[in-house]
Amino acid sequence: MTATQTRVYNFSAGPAVLPETVLEQIRDEMLCLPGVGSSILEISHRGSAFMRILADARDRLRRLFSVPESHEILFLQGGSILQNAMIPANLVTDPGQAVDCIVTGSWSKKNSEDVKYYGKLNVAWNGKECNFNRLPADSELKLSSGAAYVHYTSNETIHGIQFHGIPEVGNTPLVCDMSSDMLCRPVDVSRYGLIYACAQKNCGIAGLTIVIIRRDLMERRSGQLPTYLDYSKHAAEESMANTPPTFAIYVSGLVFQWLANEVGGLEAMRKINERKAAILYEAIDNSGGFYRGHANPSNRSIMNVVFRTPSEESDKAFLDAASRAGMTQLKGHRSLGGIRASIYNAMPVAGVEALAQFMTDFARKN
Ligand SMILES: *Cc1c(COP(=O)(O)O)cnc(C)c1O
Repeated sequence: MTATQTRVYNFSAGPAVLPETVLEQIRDEMLCLPGVGSSILEISHRGSAFMRILADARDRLRRLFSVPESHEILFLQGGSILQNAMIPANLVTDPGQAVDCIVTGSWSKKNSEDVKYYGKLNVAWNGKECNFNRLPADSELKLSSGAAYVHYTSNETIHGIQFHGIPEVGNTPLVCDMSSDMLCRPVDVSRYGLIYACAQKNCGIAGLTIVIIRRDLMERRSGQLPTYLDYSKHAAEESMANTPPTFAIYVSGLVFQWLANEVGGLEAMRKINERKAAILYEAIDNSGGFYRGHANPSNRSIMNVVFRTPSEESDKAFLDAASRAGMTQLKGHRSLGGIRASIYNAMPVAGVEALAQFMTDFARKN
């Protein structure tokens, strides 16, 4: 194999690394799905082969993530960004009703921006002044009474901060953007009104958005919205209201299977993720100040590790040298600069160890 044919350690924030065994299975089945005689890319979504793939993916996710029967699982399109509109469209019943948004970084800020088309935005907390380097305690939240829902983002992909508990919001339905950390650990799904995640960070590839919604919330505006925007229509059609993203659903089904069978479930995945994150944060903390982490230590993300070197020049030198050493896509988001190592479920421990070693060597040489 030439250098460009060798797989590197890919720290992309998304679309992101997939488990190698999943890629191998996709390759092996690409020309011919077993028993079907065609590729997954070429078959009808109404045929029995795909219907089984869809049902399997949904069942596997329900078991893996312990989704209670009170909640529906929907496979949608439009990315997380469409959910910014779909959620208020379905959950706000009156344009004067408040929606409480906890703004902890670029994503939760963006998530709050479409609320105004359907209801009244109340920013329950805003981390802008501290440059989104920490998360609020429950006591800091300014929640409104009678809000349609409270929205937060469990992991801020750009700023590298992550909630390690669930905000306490009383009886108001809690809505969470888990785009960059769903399935990184077990979650008590019953505490949520709605959870959503685009698949291309931790659950599969671009094109699929997973929505887990408490069934009673789907009824709030059922039948009063355009077809695609109405959760209850997707639920009634079992995610087949129109052609679903067939290939993306197939890939996510394989990722769920990998998590259950090879990793051993979400508690096992959590342990591995915590170990991987600890390796990188130790490299930062033991660098004598050479590396500076962005996140307040108690809010550090186990998915996106964000830090900088002493200067923009050394950030650039770091990125160039890392890339030559087979570690790619480490550039921080353009809004923040610096370095970001995204270490989703599929990033092997060996990749993180290689990066930590590289960090130690780079700091010593510079
Ligand atoms: C990537 C990301 C999104 C954006 O998802 P799209 O599929 O591009 O719409 C939203 N929220 C978070 C937390 C993300 O990490």
